[in-house]
Amino acid sequence: MGRSRQALRWLCALTGGLLVSACVTAPLPVTPGQSAASQVLAVHCARLIDGVSPVVLIDQTVLMVDGKVASVGRHLHLPRAAQRLELPRHTCLPGLLDLHTHLTDIPQNTADFSIYPRRSPEEHYVFARQNAKAMLEAGFTTARDVGAYVGGLDRELRDDINAGHTPGPRMQVAIAFLTIAGGGGDMLLPGFPAREAKTPLSRLRMGVARGPEEFAVKAQRLIDQGADLLKVIASGAVLALGGVPGSPEMKPEELAAVARVAHANGRRLAAHAHGAQSVKDAILAGADTIEHASFIDEEGLLLAREHHVALAMDIYNGDYIDTEGRRQGWPAEFLQKNIDTTEVQRRAFTRAVQLGVPVVFATDAAVYPHGLNARQFRVMVERGMTPMQAIQAATSVAAGFMGWSDRVGQLTPGHYGDLLAVEGDPLMDITRLEQPAAVVKGGEVVRWPPGPPAQ
Ligand SMILES: [Zn+2]
Repeated sequence: MGRSRQALRWLCALTGGLLVSACVTAPLPVTPGQSAASQVLAVHCARLIDGVSPVVLIDQTVLMVDGKVASVGRHLHLPRAAQRLELPRHTCLPGLLDLHTHLTDIPQNTADFSIYPRRSPEEHYVFARQNAKAMLEAGFTTARDVGAYVGGLDRELRDDINAGHTPGPRMQVAIAFLTIAGGGGDMLLPGFPAREAKTPLSRLRMGVARGPEEFAVKAQRLIDQGADLLKVIASGAVLALGGVPGSPEMKPEELAAVARVAHANGRRLAAHAHGAQSVKDAILAGADTIEHASFIDEEGLLLAREHHVALAMDIYNGDYIDTEGRRQGWPAEFLQKNIDTTEVQRRAFTRAVQLGVPVVFATDAAVYPHGLNARQFRVMVERGMTPMQAIQAATSVAAGFMGWSDRVGQLTPGHYGDLLAVEGDPLMDITRLEQPAAVVKGGEVVRWPPGPPAQ
């Protein structure tokens, strides 16, 4: 803080704000490294998208007090102690939400899943922390984590982030995949010698069950251990050896048993379902979101709309797998299953948008690196959404399907002070969202625009 500014602060304090205009027009700049969580932060933006309204507001200031949005407007009276973040060429948006991530896993460039028991949970956790930091700095301030191979590591990450021990997005976690034995979420490793495991094999198979009764017991156990939502693997997976993405794995009565436990405990159910039949089974069983939905048919789309079930379609990562995965030598089976699901899923996405089926932003990050989540916006716009629809899918619409409409997904009073700013106008060029200039979480600036801090 400069001497003159310090003197002004003194003067304001001494006169009890009698020199009001000088006091309010000279707020203090934010300096990198300075926490604003318990302070007052004023973010001035050239344009503002609030996450709910389709109208873009011009020349707006977002005032955050104690981590929450206190007011938004053009000529706000800023408290004397306000820190200031000037974004004169930027568009501000709510911090983004990604409803399908696996923050404790790493991109799979190998078919050898024995890397999971060969590493200790502590070794895995190093990657988890890196992923969380990368995602936050990319402007994603909220993540729904839909299953960890090392069961429970996501809960540890969530709790560490909430306690301020490590930077990362606000998280909802599923703790483990609920899956049949040998299914898409089962880390069955035939022949792997248990004595060589640094992560107990039981931790890799926490959610494996068969029959409605056992699924209900395991579902309740996950909730008792701190799961914010439940995740079922209803059909085969793409990135799992031997699984067939289109064919059902869990039976309708097993899905219904998990849905009952989820809803009885006030939790949401996310259902991994590629196949047309599994999508319908999961919707009718009570799932709240359908993950992937690659082979969803017209009947399934109409059913989703009727039951107000959102589709969480990861329509970018096919490009990444086909280029980067091929370059890295991923297994031929993965590459072929990816080709089989990518284009058909994108066509289904277009149809879902045409029919007005709810769609939430969901990337399946971990298939590709966390931090690159925003790459999916381009494909969503190419495949039928308006840029504003795509932004709302990653803000207020996503928040609604997490049950967090009251806290994230919009820049309006009472919500967390979570904000992303990009240079220019993302409605003219949606790929602007891939280049965050500033990120604020809970009123704390975690990423500053390039150049010196505002003076
Ligand atoms: Zn996934």
